[in-house]
Amino acid sequence: MRDRASREISYLRLSVTRRCGFSCIYCADRQCRDTPDGELSPPEIFRITGALAEAGCHKVRLTGGEPLIRRDIAEICRGIRELPAVRELALTTNGLYLAGMARELFAAGVSRVNISIDTLNPAKFERITGRSCLGKVLSGLETALSCGFERVKINTVLLHGLNDDAASVRELAALADRYPLDIRFIELMPAGGADFSVREHFAAGGVVLRALPDLTEIPGEAGRSGVARMYRREGSPGRIGIIAPITGSFCRECNRIRVLSDGRLRLCLFGGREFDLRHLSRAEIVRVFRIASGLKPEEHGITADASGIRIPMQEIGG
Ligand code: SAM
Ligand code: SF4
Repeated sequence: MRDRASREISYLRLSVTRRCGFSCIYCADRQCRDTPDGELSPPEIFRITGALAEAGCHKVRLTGGEPLIRRDIAEICRGIRELPAVRELALTTNGLYLAGMARELFAAGVSRVNISIDTLNPAKFERITGRSCLGKVLSGLETALSCGFERVKINTVLLHGLNDDAASVRELAALADRYPLDIRFIELMPAGGADFSVREHFAAGGVVLRALPDLTEIPGEAGRSGVARMYRREGSPGRIGIIAPITGSFCRECNRIRVLSDGRLRLCLFGGREFDLRHLSRAEIVRVFRIASGLKPEEHGITADASGIRIPMQEIGG
């Protein structure tokens, strides 16, 4: 299904919960209560995902909140993987419970895992996430790397004054020298609590290129990983990526739609219309998806000093 900007919409990001034990400064939202109220049940998830996959969204990524907080997450993964039109199932996690769950998720059909790690400094990790558990997250990363996933990626949100200095960028990038993983540096988008200043913490993706002058851009299609631009360092098994929603041409490559944990279809991270899919039949979901795709905004129009705008990232799922 092509949208009005000729983008093939083939990627569904499905938030399975708004709940999350972390409170990352740039994401956490006090509105997201700690109860599972309103979350789609496994059969509802399978109906919506199955219909959207049949309509062309063959790649599915589970997100949240924290998806691994759901006790039925392995059942959800197995059920989605069994849907005939789903070709790939991925998951994004803060990594806290990954060490104990990675093998079960792999067995349930998850082929790719993204883990969010913004710093390797335990004190800064606690300041950013509100939790003192960097060690557990790193052990989740090690387990994920050992259990056969097709790809493991690290997501790092660039935060001025916390992890955008050359030493921090190099320390994180060195993970790609040690392991066959992708580490993607993401520009901060306007979310988080009212006391968090997006403007003060914003750092452009260019800081990564300045900190790592020996990066070589991977040319052509191989150098594109979704909305990321990918780079390599001589002799490294891993790759470095930059996702630049604010200073780059992010929207041109956007092939995704989002479904929130209560069944609302959202066309763009930054807004646009929403459609409630929860109570629709499969045929109705396909029909709504076709209409909605035509309404997907061509660009988000957000800039680095997007004062006043706050997207509910914890609810949307990134
Ligand atoms: N809890 C999981 C996690 O942290 O990976 C999944 C949900 S989280 C909302 C998905 C992704 O969105 C994470 O990689 C996170 O770093 C990213 N994210 C959250 N808030 C962001 C913001 N304001 N700007 C850029 N990325 C953000
Ligand atoms: Fe939770 Fe992920 Fe948001 Fe952090 S980024 S608060 S872990 S949902």
